[in-house]
Amino acid sequence: MTLEQRQAELSAIAAEIKVCVKCPLHEGRTHAVPGAGPTDAEIMFIGEGPGYNEDKQGLPFVGQSGHLLEQFLALINLTRDQVFITNVVKCRPPSNRDPLPLEVDTCTSNYLFQQIELIDPKIIVTLGRYSMGLFFPKAKITQIHGQPKRENGRIYLPMFHPAAVLRNMETMKSQAEADFKKIPVLLAEARKSGTQGPAKNGTGGGEPPKPTQLSLF
Ligand code: URA
Repeated sequence: MTLEQRQAELSAIAAEIKVCVKCPLHEGRTHAVPGAGPTDAEIMFIGEGPGYNEDKQGLPFVGQSGHLLEQFLALINLTRDQVFITNVVKCRPPSNRDPLPLEVDTCTSNYLFQQIELIDPKIIVTLGRYSMGLFFPKAKITQIHGQPKRENGRIYLPMFHPAAVLRNMETMKSQAEADFKKIPVLLAEARKSGTQGPAKNGTGGGEPPKPTQLSLF
C-alpha cells in the first residue's frame, strides 16, 4: 500500500471515529479523539483515553499530561509532530473513570488495531496500564516499565502514564526520563534490523499481537 493510500485509510478511520456510536462512551463526549501524527511515524504512543481538555479540543494529550509528554519527548530531541499519539479509547470516559472492558474491546477492535496496522510503527510505547495491558497481558507496570519486548517485528516499550508521573513527580519522574531515554537506542536497533510491523502487502513481520485486554479485568 502506498503512503497516500495509508493516509486515506487513516483519515477514513478518523472520520468514522468522530461519529462513532458503537459503545456508550459516545453519549458523554464533546469530541472523539482519533489521534494525531504522521502516517509513517516510526514511534506510536498509546495512552488510555481522552481527558477533559482532549475531549474539548478533539486532540490527544493536550492537557497537563500532554505537556509532560512533550517534555519527555524533548529529552530525546523529538517533538510531538514527529510521532503518532493516540489512545486505547477514543472518547472520554465520564469523570475520567477507567474504561470498561466492553469499551476497550469495541474501540481497539474497530479502530486502534487498524491504526497500528496502517501506521506500522517500529516502536509502540504504551502509556499506562490499559495500553500496556493490550500487549503485556497480566504484567504490572511497576515491574516492567522501560523493558522492551520484541514481537512480530516490532518493539513494544511500556512506560508510566504521564498523569501518574505528575501525581508522583519525586519518585517517578527520573524513572520515566530514564525509560524515555531508551527510545533512541531502540529506534536505532529497529532501523538497523529493518524492524517493521506486520505490513498489509505481505512483506511485513507477521501477525499483529492478539488483543489481550480482557485479561486485565
Ligand atoms: N490521558 C490519556 O491517556 N490520553 C490523553 O489523550 C490525555 C490524557
